Amino acid sequence: MRQRIIKRNEQSLAPTPRRKTAEEGTDVEEQEEAGWDVIVIGAGAAGLMAAGTAARSGFRVLLLEKMDKSGRKVRITGKGRCNVTNARPPEEFAEQVRVNADFFAPAFDEFNNKMTIRFFEKRGVKLEIERGDRVFPQSGKAWDIATALLEYCVDNGVKIVYNTRVTGLIAISDKIYGLKYRNKRGYERQAEAPRIILTTGGCSYPLTGSTGDGYHWAADLGHTIEPLRPSLVSLTTSHPQAKNLHGVLLKNTKATLYIDNEPVREELGELSFSERGIEGAVALRMSRDAVEALHAKRRVKMVLDLKPGLPDDILRERIHREMEALTPESLFAELLRKLVPKGMVIPLSDEVKVHGQTYLKKVTLVEIERLIKVLKGLTFPITGHGSWDYAVTTAGGVRCDEVNPLTMESKKISGLYFAGEILDLDANTGGYNLQIAFSTGKLAGMLKK
Ligand SMILES: Cc1cc2nc3c(=O)[nH]c(=O)nc-3n(C[C@H](O)[C@H](O)[C@H](O)COP(=O)(O)OP(=O)(O)OC[C@H]3O[C@@H](n4cnc5c(N)ncnc54)[C@H](O)[C@@H]3O)c2cc1C
Repeated sequence: MRQRIIKRNEQSLAPTPRRKTAEEGTDVEEQEEAGWDVIVIGAGAAGLMAAGTAARSGFRVLLLEKMDKSGRKVRITGKGRCNVTNARPPEEFAEQVRVNADFFAPAFDEFNNKMTIRFFEKRGVKLEIERGDRVFPQSGKAWDIATALLEYCVDNGVKIVYNTRVTGLIAISDKIYGLKYRNKRGYERQAEAPRIILTTGGCSYPLTGSTGDGYHWAADLGHTIEPLRPSLVSLTTSHPQAKNLHGVLLKNTKATLYIDNEPVREELGELSFSERGIEGAVALRMSRDAVEALHAKRRVKMVLDLKPGLPDDILRERIHREMEALTPESLFAELLRKLVPKGMVIPLSDEVKVHGQTYLKKVTLVEIERLIKVLKGLTFPITGHGSWDYAVTTAGGVRCDEVNPLTMESKKISGLYFAGEILDLDANTGGYNLQIAFSTGKLAGMLKK
């Protein structure tokens, strides 16, 4: 008999017969004895969905959360508005999943984006579809999504205990046996259950509670953890004008990511600059490849086409038209202002090597050609990326081929299930990551008796 990780039977968690619970859970040990069928670790998007689903099928479910509230991350998603899913058809949805889309497919079949929409609307959260098929609550409040998920658990009788940090898993002979945890009073305790669903999330935004704890336990039990990297994260640049660009928002830009001088990804849309680096949907979508390449010590650059709708000759005509509309005594900066947002004028004139205060009558045709080149290919060497503190997701995680895609059960430890960001599954921005949490959480919670 093989026992992993911890001392046995310090004190069992005393489980309770199924009954409704309030948001403010008691300590785990305060419950009467009965026995848990399932323990879910982590009350985030995936954990709440898994726990509520299992409880709805009649399982006695204990949900342990180390923070003082459920769904802390959900509450800050989509800048507080929660882009809860994306309404695209399944094939297009799958294209946005960056790795292991095949693994994700059965979970999505079981609980897809349409079902997510129905799930929340049934619980009184009216949703609306915005640009890019992104789905948000009409109220504009991520809080409503978190509350609906919590109510799903409470209404189905999940026992939720907060301020309780799980510290390890126990498996015997490749079968899950239980876990150890630190209770509200700081004592080490043990709880047992034949099924444990691990939904501790990734490493991003650790202040929400997601500090990557589950990866260590999964690795201790023989799972492979694909290298963890911040994803959907800002990119930093060594461009000499980077500081002067803070606050600039480019609404319609085409960006091409080059790795070792090879174009690897092209994105069209919004991009912005801040003290954290290059941000906005376009940069975030490129960050996964960029971060991976930076860690592999490869050369990375981002080239911006600031006028993606205008081929060179049309842009040339446009510039000459703008110059004719100005006077010869107008300044080069005034011409630039007609072409780019205000915050870009100084950086751009620096790049073209024509001072902004130069009279247009002194600007040469060669310099106009240089301007066209810069507008169509402004290059930013990418030298780093933002930290876990501000990454939207985690790339890497529990290797998917070690998990059954039809049940989310570990292929190594029976009775152990995974869902959400802990898995090596991540997607672009646009509501896809929460859908991954909901689909895999739902499937993990659909346990067989
Ligand atoms: C700022 C931000 C905005 C985002 N916006 C969107 C968006 O609009 N749309 C979208 O699709 N995705 C968005 N995401 C991504 C999305 O929120 C995550 O992918 C998703 O929440 C992952 O769900 P999860 O349940 O796997 O993990 P989490 O939501 O991280 O939940 C994990 C839970 O486990 C708990 N936990 C961890 N360790 C322990 C332990 N040892 N013991 C007990 N409990 C533990 C944590 O406290 C936490 O409550 C955003 C992410 C961030 C950071």
